[in-house]
Amino acid sequence: MKRHNIHIHTTYSDGSFSAEKLVNMAKNEKLEVIGITDHAFTTKIKSLNEVTLPGYINDLKLLKEKNSGSGIELKIGLEIDTCYNQGIDPCNVPFDLINKLDYVLFEYIRVDKGLKKVYRNIESVVNAKKDIKIPVGLAHTDISMALPDNKDYIKLLGDNDIFVEINLSENSNYHFLFNKDVIDLIKKYNIKMTIGTDFHSDIIPAYCLSKNISLAMNFIEDKGLKIHEIAS
Ligand SMILES: [Zn+2]
Repeated sequence: MKRHNIHIHTTYSDGSFSAEKLVNMAKNEKLEVIGITDHAFTTKIKSLNEVTLPGYINDLKLLKEKNSGSGIELKIGLEIDTCYNQGIDPCNVPFDLINKLDYVLFEYIRVDKGLKKVYRNIESVVNAKKDIKIPVGLAHTDISMALPDNKDYIKLLGDNDIFVEINLSENSNYHFLFNKDVIDLIKKYNIKMTIGTDFHSDIIPAYCLSKNISLAMNFIEDKGLKIHEIAS
């Protein structure tokens, strides 16, 4: 497993640092893989859209080439808001553009049946995945909420190779609360994990670039979980 953080925001959306600056910061913090995942298709905050996405992809591709062989691997991702009231149905994203990325994270996907008018559930991502050719993951989804009644949702993740992020932002460190039942289901259904901190800036201490990453890596190893190829 590489020392990675594949959930990071830059000035392309609501982050404080340019992607170039972040690459240098990540080098200083000895990260081996970083993934830029700026917000897209949301009205909640400054966001990428169909018009600005091609420029984002081109810029990051150049930055990736510039840093090849430098000891840090840059992945080009995106975080897509799926809320009914402010985001997009995963089935309506521009697949031709999305498939030019290295991976995509969908946020506000729930694995329980609560708040159906706001959040979408796993099926929406499963449907979109038929047209998505790149790795697909869920940002800050607490899969333990599927227990005890919605274990089928957890199975869908494994069956469709949808990875799950361990989100280290201070408000979401629920992975340390995963009980044995959740861990057992993650293993049973062969669900892959990744680590992300949701880093935006260094103004809010809750969102760090590398804090607790070693802890999360140890957690994955200790529990015998699998890491997704995007971060392995
Ligand atoms: Zn985020």
